[in-house]
Amino acid sequence: MRSNTIKSRASGKSKRSGELLAQKLHAEGITNPQVLQAIANSPRHIFIPEILAHKAYDNTALPIGQGQTISQPYIVAKMSELLLGKEGDSSSSILEIGTGSGYQTSILAQITDKVYSVERIKALQFQAKRCLRAMDLHNISMKHGDGWQGWVSKAPFDAIIVTAGAASVPQALLDQLVDGGRLIIPVGEQTQILKIITRKGDNYSEQQVEAVRFVPLVPGDLL
Ligand code: SAH
Repeated sequence: MRSNTIKSRASGKSKRSGELLAQKLHAEGITNPQVLQAIANSPRHIFIPEILAHKAYDNTALPIGQGQTISQPYIVAKMSELLLGKEGDSSSSILEIGTGSGYQTSILAQITDKVYSVERIKALQFQAKRCLRAMDLHNISMKHGDGWQGWVSKAPFDAIIVTAGAASVPQALLDQLVDGGRLIIPVGEQTQILKIITRKGDNYSEQQVEAVRFVPLVPGDLL
């Protein structure tokens, strides 16, 4: 069975490759030990088409089908680090918008208590679920839905991470943050600015991190 194949690929010879990738990211400025450990532990090769497996531990984005991409490991690590914040608090409930391959989801599941993840393309969600099961990660709930709406019934969240470029900041996501919670989101059309938006009561403050390039956070219809 294919899911067994993923399972055996997951436990295959990726450990050293993951460790080397973590070392590379450390050299590029990622310092949070939990994030680096999660990168070292994760078999990125199972999240991409087998034909690209030889590039799995390169620090690049790669196509995953349906016109979508698995994000560059550096940006996955950077966003995970921003999400944890300076205190490195891992006891939290996280919402991810744009499950895609599920690789970022797998990192989040290793550094926080509970991850909720929303994806609009059913076929990608299905494949991601198989990979996450193969990694024996069970603190993840997934939903086929529109990320612009967040996930109302599971809100509020300690942090929300959006892994697609949003033309504007979705109001629903701001509403679904706890007081003191933060939204990590790339905002813009072709290229975006990665922003951290922090909630204080009914006020929101914004910090700009760096220029990034994601596939768009598509409005509306599900596939
Ligand atoms: N973190 C993922 C990134 C995938 S690319 C990874 O590293 O694999 C961004 C994903 O966002 C795509 O899978 C795309 O289908 C999804 N997406 C785009 N618009 C969306 C929306 N409105 N709601 C939910 N998911 C969306």
